[in-house]
Formats: sequence, C-alpha cells, structure tokens
Amino acid sequence: MTQEEILSIDHKHIWHPYTSASRAVDNVVVKKASGVFLELEDGSQLMDGMSSWWSTIHGYNVPELNEAIQQQLENMAHVMFGGITHRPAAELTKKLLQVVPKGLAHVFYSDSGSVAVEVAMKMALQYWHSKGQGHKNRFATVRNGYHGDTWHDMSVCDPVTGMHSIFNNRLSPQIFLPAPPSKFDGELTPGEVEEVENVLAGQHHEIAAFILEPIVQGAGGMRFYHPDYLASLQSLCEKYDILLIADEIATGFGRTGRLFACEHAGITPDIMCIGKALTGGYMSFAATLCTADVANTISSGAPGVFMHGPTFMGNPLACATALASLELLLSRDWQKEIGAIEEHLKAALAHLQDLETVEEVRILGAIGVVEMKEPVDMKAIQDELTQRGLWLRPFGKLIYTMPPFVITQNELEKLTTAMSESIIAYSKKHL
Ligand SMILES: *Cc1c(COP(=O)(O)O)cnc(C)c1O
Repeated sequence: MTQEEILSIDHKHIWHPYTSASRAVDNVVVKKASGVFLELEDGSQLMDGMSSWWSTIHGYNVPELNEAIQQQLENMAHVMFGGITHRPAAELTKKLLQVVPKGLAHVFYSDSGSVAVEVAMKMALQYWHSKGQGHKNRFATVRNGYHGDTWHDMSVCDPVTGMHSIFNNRLSPQIFLPAPPSKFDGELTPGEVEEVENVLAGQHHEIAAFILEPIVQGAGGMRFYHPDYLASLQSLCEKYDILLIADEIATGFGRTGRLFACEHAGITPDIMCIGKALTGGYMSFAATLCTADVANTISSGAPGVFMHGPTFMGNPLACATALASLELLLSRDWQKEIGAIEEHLKAALAHLQDLETVEEVRILGAIGVVEMKEPVDMKAIQDELTQRGLWLRPFGKLIYTMPPFVITQNELEKLTTAMSESIIAYSKKHL
C-alpha cells in the first residue's frame, strides 16, 4: 500500500482519539520506531517526546522486551484466566508486589487503564456492599482529574476539561472538590485541607471512595500538586471511613522521579490502578491492586466473589512483557536517568517563562510542561514541531513533553531546542 492509499483509507474509515470523521486531518504515517525515533513512511524521522502517551519508557523496539515477547509467544500467546493460571502472571505479580507501596496484596489484571479504573470503582462499591453499607455508593474526587473514557470513569473526570461534558447529564453525579491548589514545591495553602475535611465530614455516609491521580494530574491539566495534600487526604479518608483510590496509570513506573507517585507522600492507597508504562508501551494492559482488607471484605460478603472478569484477563504475552519491562527498569539507574532529564528540562525550558504568550513552565521528574495563556492552534504548533523533527501532541493550552527515560543528553538537547524554537516561532505568529 502506498502512503497515499494508507492516508485515503485513514481519512475515509478510521477513527483516531478525539477526532472528527468528516474533518479528517493528515495523520503522520509511522512505519517503524526504534530508540527515541519514529521513522515515517516517507523515510523521514521524528524524535518522540511523548513516549506514546506516558508508555514507552524504554523507547521503541527494545531488545529485552522483544526477546521476552518472542519467548512467551512460543509457549502461548493467550489462555483464558477462568480456572487457569500461569507462570508469567505469577512472576509478574511477585515482582510487582515487591515494588508497589507496602500493603497492596491482591492484583486484578485487565486490558486497559480505563477498565482498571472501572474495576477499582466496582471494588469500592462491593467493599461497602459486603459491609452492609451499600448507601456508601458515591465517589469524591478533585477537579482537573482524568481517569479514562469509559462510563463510570467519565463521571469522575473533570466535568469541563475531562472531555466528556456532553454526557454529563447521563452520568452519576459525583462529589467534586477544587483541584489541589498547592504546587508540588510550594506550600500547602491555608484552608485547603479544611475544605476537603468539611466536605468529607458532611458527606462521608454516602462516599464509597475518594479517587484521584497522585501528585500529577495528567490529561485533565498537567498540574503537579503538593505531597502533603495527598498525605492529608489519606488521613482524612481513614478518619471518615472512605477508601482511597490512587490512579497511578500515568504516573507509575518512575515518571515523577519515584517509582510510584504515592511515594512522594509516603502513603499506601486502599486501591491503586496502573497501566500505560506497565508493558513498556508494548501493548494495552493494566492492573488494579488492593489491600488484603479490601480483597477479604469483598470476598466475605455476598455474593462472595468480585464481580468482574475480562476475556483477556492476565494475558500471558502482556504479563511476560510487563515483567521484562519492570526488570529492565529496575536494572538501570532509573533515578539517575530521570534526575538528569528533570535537570535538563528545568535548565532548558525555563526561559520560555519570559514569553508573553506563556502562562507557566513547570517540570517534575521526566515531565516538562509549557502552559500557554491561550488554547493553542494544534495544527500550527504541530507543524512548527515536526518541521524541527520533534513529535509532541499538545492539547488545550498545554505543550508538553515526557520523553522515554533512555533519551541521551545529546538527544534531550535537540528535543528542548526544537520545543523552545517551535514555541517561540508559534508565539510570534499568534500574539
Ligand atoms: C490514560 C489514563 C487512563 C486511561 O487509560 P487507557 O489505557 O487510555 O484506558 C486512566 N487514568 C489516567 C490517570 C490516565 O492517564
């Protein structure tokens, strides 16, 4: 098939994330990828500054992951998980439980992040059902959150930035608190914890769980908040008998400088979701972890089982790849890699703060965010970026990068130069 034919079929018949079928845009046609580079059908290259949405932490075409997947393929690609178990699931679980926050003890594997969040919410509801407190059936959360695109997930996404506003009057009304006001490296704002406590004190009898992204709010605004907020929230949840669900789907596996963002606050949530980088970006796979208390309570009440079971639960190829990805991450000095990325992003992007078009530049771990004052013209900014050989995917007011951890200093230099020059050129045309 020629590139023209690919694009023609793409235009006519294929949906992409959040796109129109009638106003199709020319997507970039990627032929293959390796390291931190995407190779296009026309032979040109783009440096990947997105890690394919937080996932490809080791870059593309990683020998260790290829090897793991090929070996597992020779045994079996898939087998049902009902009544059957296997070595890849056991080995991955053993390894995961060694590295996640202490106290998480049971793992539910599913196909995608959105499903992992649905599973977490069902766990919380079933937990209270088992305790004879089925009236605790609502969720509290903070604004600017993002938890996935499926039905109950949408109800806890930010009602405005969460991209689901047209469904609002069909969704379960949840309890929204303001987005955590304090910055990651700032101070807690006076009153912000009291505000949370007031709501929880007043409504705890109807709240099953508090769900939020620990430390970094991703697709709902790319905001970084103070670890003490999370620590206080955890204490309040304990005090008012509310489960805490940490959605680590974007933040997990080192992205914020800690293996899991909960570690910044030293907390263990009752339920935790992971996904995205779990398989090093090789395939869609996710997990919902919970404490022994949550698992045992669900299992002791009626109907005595947890009511969920995906067809592709615990997929062996995904488990084997996830294990190899985790081992690869832990075998490298990942803290040093991410520390070096953070330092470079801070030094190289700070000057953008002086542009009249820029609201704020913020960096945490291997995440660099330039928030503009106005929503950006996606095509215009992406043209600037791709002309300079860089692949980023801005949205709203946000132009941001979260590169693969294996990026070299030299490549990082090129990335931040291309990003800076693009933002400056864009700003000149769009003042
Ligand atoms: C991406 C994301 C999800 C949804 O994961 P999918 O794999 O896209 O379904 C949920 N929560 C957070 C925090 C995410 O970043």
